[in-house]
Amino acid sequence: MHRKFLIAGNWKMSNGIADSVSLVDVIKSRTSKILSIDMLVCPPFTALDAARKAAAGSLLRIGAQNMYHESKGAFTGEVSYSMLRDCNISHVILGHSERRTIFGESDELINKKVCAALGNSLLPILCIGETEAEREKNQTFTVIEAQLEKCLRGVSNEQAENLVIAYEPVWAIGTGKTATPEIAQEAHSFVREQLAKIFNEKLANSVRILYGGSMKAANAEALLNQPDIDGGLIGGASLIADEFCSIIGTADKLSL
Ligand code: PEP
Repeated sequence: MHRKFLIAGNWKMSNGIADSVSLVDVIKSRTSKILSIDMLVCPPFTALDAARKAAAGSLLRIGAQNMYHESKGAFTGEVSYSMLRDCNISHVILGHSERRTIFGESDELINKKVCAALGNSLLPILCIGETEAEREKNQTFTVIEAQLEKCLRGVSNEQAENLVIAYEPVWAIGTGKTATPEIAQEAHSFVREQLAKIFNEKLANSVRILYGGSMKAANAEALLNQPDIDGGLIGGASLIADEFCSIIGTADKLSL
């Protein structure tokens, strides 16, 4: 089955309004002829509106890096799904390993966010992945299976059509240690098998599974060439226009 590549940048806590607009402007102009893949950048909350305005008229989409699952109320410091909708945001990254480890987000909380996003026309990019210690103890598959089962509880087959999964081995995020294409493919294929168990095979074959973990221009082709890798969630390299646009170019070339 043909799945359109999605190349997504996670800017984390980098880029204020001016830097976000400049980077969007550069990416927009360098990718103006790219039609075969989906492109997304996820700036910090404060720059979402400006980035979306800067991206207007292009195929570059703007996403958020997190959200809260209630629409409004006494949740000091949180940003709700309805506020993201208000900014015309299309995607939201959920369950990133930094949210899990630094901010203590559990699979149960992430599940509430996934359901709220899907129920309110936001496309969630659900991040899963094992730590280095878990991989060393041969627990990779058990961890991924449990994360998927818990984070996707209550998601209907119809809603799952709008789901994107990002397999991000925690040991590869921001470390420069990329999973080999073989290791990544093995995990992606396992994720797809689990999606088939949770939903059904047809749906599992249509859901995009992105790889995340030190993806850059130099290793993108080998990773994107794997049959179950449908794009990338890119941190550090997405802040560098040359790197990010080169990864986009690679995905475009492989799609043609
Ligand atoms: C990420 O933050 O999702 C990520 C994959 O970061 P990096 O590309 O820097 O490893």
